Amino acid sequence: MRLIVTEKDSAARKIADILGGKVSVTEHGSGRQKVKSYQFVYEDEDSVAIGLRGHVMQTVFPNTYRRWSLKYLGDMIETPDLAWVVDGGAATTLAALRKAAKGATSVVIATDYDREGELIGHEALQILRGEALKRHPNDKPEKKKKAGSAGRGRAAAAPPASPGLETGDPHVKAMLPAAVVDRHVRVRYSALTPEEVNAAFAKPSTVDFNLAEAAHSRQDIDLIWGAVLTRFMSLASYRYGSDYLSVGRVQSPTLRLVVDRELERRAFVPVPYWEIKATLQREGEKLEVAHAKGRFDTLEAADAALAGAQAETAEVTAYKARPRKVPPPPPFNTTALMSAASGTGVSPARVMRAAESLYLDGLISYPRTDNTVYPPSLDLRGSLQALAGWQPVATTAARLAAQEKLTSSRGSKRTTDHPPIYPVGVPKKELSGDQARVYDLVVRRFLATLLPAAVIEGQRLDVRIGEEPFLARGSRVATPGFLEVYEKYAAKRDRPLPSVEPGDTFSVLDVHQESKETQPPSRYGQGPLIEKMEELGLGTKATRADIIQHLYDRNYVRDNPVEPTELGVALVTAFDAALQKAPVDITSSEMTARLETEMDRISEGELRRDEVVADSQQMLEHAWKLLDGHIADIRERIKSGVREDLTLGECKNCGGQLRVLRGKTGKRFAACVGKEGEEPKAPAVEGERPRRGCGQTFPLPQRGTITPTGNTCGECGWPEIKVVGGGGRGRPWVLCVDIDCPSKEKYRARTKKST
Ligand SMILES: [Zn+2]
Ligand SMILES: [Zn+2]
Repeated sequence: MRLIVTEKDSAARKIADILGGKVSVTEHGSGRQKVKSYQFVYEDEDSVAIGLRGHVMQTVFPNTYRRWSLKYLGDMIETPDLAWVVDGGAATTLAALRKAAKGATSVVIATDYDREGELIGHEALQILRGEALKRHPNDKPEKKKKAGSAGRGRAAAAPPASPGLETGDPHVKAMLPAAVVDRHVRVRYSALTPEEVNAAFAKPSTVDFNLAEAAHSRQDIDLIWGAVLTRFMSLASYRYGSDYLSVGRVQSPTLRLVVDRELERRAFVPVPYWEIKATLQREGEKLEVAHAKGRFDTLEAADAALAGAQAETAEVTAYKARPRKVPPPPPFNTTALMSAASGTGVSPARVMRAAESLYLDGLISYPRTDNTVYPPSLDLRGSLQALAGWQPVATTAARLAAQEKLTSSRGSKRTTDHPPIYPVGVPKKELSGDQARVYDLVVRRFLATLLPAAVIEGQRLDVRIGEEPFLARGSRVATPGFLEVYEKYAAKRDRPLPSVEPGDTFSVLDVHQESKETQPPSRYGQGPLIEKMEELGLGTKATRADIIQHLYDRNYVRDNPVEPTELGVALVTAFDAALQKAPVDITSSEMTARLETEMDRISEGELRRDEVVADSQQMLEHAWKLLDGHIADIRERIKSGVREDLTLGECKNCGGQLRVLRGKTGKRFAACVGKEGEEPKAPAVEGERPRRGCGQTFPLPQRGTITPTGNTCGECGWPEIKVVGGGGRGRPWVLCVDIDCPSKEKYRARTKKST
């Protein structure tokens, strides 16, 4: 019998359907933890496919490092004593794997085709062979799991070892004879389509252990860095429990990009300038023109030009039109997809979730790829023929499919693992939500890459008003080319000017001056932030979206374009203050990129995992010593950052500060805490603590991020706040903090009516 191991259940199901046709399903376990395996016959051999749940092994510290204390940090860096053990949360999956594997005579690793997939395949082999550890070898086997023994700050610390394991041998019992596991093969496919899967199974290869080691080294390094820096920052600033300050190897340099941009904005000094604009009219059509000089640096110069432009009519002095070719965009890789989709308002993390499910449904190819060049072997025509059955683009797809020769655009990145992201199937029922958006985008981009360039006519119209030259620019799509299908995702290009000739005249409706200021650099949108991360080598195609999401979840950033919170700013500046003299800045993108390069070299077999981990330990040790010398400063910065984030505005009663507080139950509310430096007053009720402020409180929404707007409510005068759902999702919601405000009555009346 042949055992096929995939990374997820849906891939196992799909492969069984493709190879077997007739599939019977066995359910293992019960309730929510149910795991399925799929039995079928492939090439006359009984086969079973089963999906894992991503990684089933993890890197852990020994239990001695479980307690959060500044005392252990040096040891954690110097002798981290890591072990690679079975993930306790995968127990049900592995019990199912044991049952499904019974009697197997061959093993096929069919995990995703990338670095993490290679490591997951390696994990499965270790477990099947009985070489995987079930707990850290230096830990005593746990007798019984005690409730509430997990300790605080578990999230970044080593989770407890798998519960309920027997004493003695720390290895998981073998599931198959070593000889069977040694004969394993690896299949690699880029799309869950019959063509790809059949071809992969017809020509299997072997697991690439170097590639798996590269992924494994990332786990080791990220665990040490994350645990040490998170614990240091949290303990230094007395933030425990769910409020711990998460610091990550890639996360911090990413936060730095956002914070640096914000600090640039704050340091920006706007410079005033003036513009002169005029509104013209001809044959009932209006046209806006601007002074040909553009910006005037002084008011005097602007005034003089305005005085010179007093006339009833404007005369056309020149009209130029120049056609320009706009080439079709290159094929999609992960970054380009995320960036394009975020332009339509879908966050990178959501794009990747939608793309992942489209892949598992066999609608698009594997969405984690750097490649922007279609390999010659790719069946472009097959995809086009399929798309001819998808109504929104049917005509274009059919026309291209019938074309004798297909020419595609190409990008600058060529890799051999996966093709660029392209559609491989057509949905049987209508898609909805993010899936519909991402599928539409992938399909249109694919067609665009096979269509010719667009020809855009750039237009320039020069007129004279009095003595002063003015001009207007416009454009017209002369030949749509790829815009035939991609216009909704491309820059707007159809803004034609009226067709006139030199000597023609317009009537002047209005000439006026506008006073303006130069603008600070704009904040990163989520799309450009992802692109910047790729450019600097921060993270990988598989991790970037999650890293950004994490910044939102930890309350370091908010909104889109991405704006840091004061806590986020404090974290980065605290690092800066401490690490000024560090030989390598551990929160810089150079450092992160250096480790990424070393991981690439592991996958090429040029470096070993322990060498790269040791290098990273050294960098971390330097940094930690410097941080340790600045503990008081770090504490003060974080405290004041948090305080600013939590101040909503001024109390209407007493002029004190209205701040977000948390009650004993963890519920948040707004309360007046009095003025800065105010002495606490004697309590109104005997026995209570003396308090600052006037005693005013308001309930607050319990979900989402709350930020001050700086405005006060027009109805009642209390501060207005903004509430945004987690992850910059959803529309921000501005409301008055006063629960009894008349504006709420209106709001309630409106919502009542609409329901
Ligand atoms: Zn007050
Ligand atoms: Zn109000």
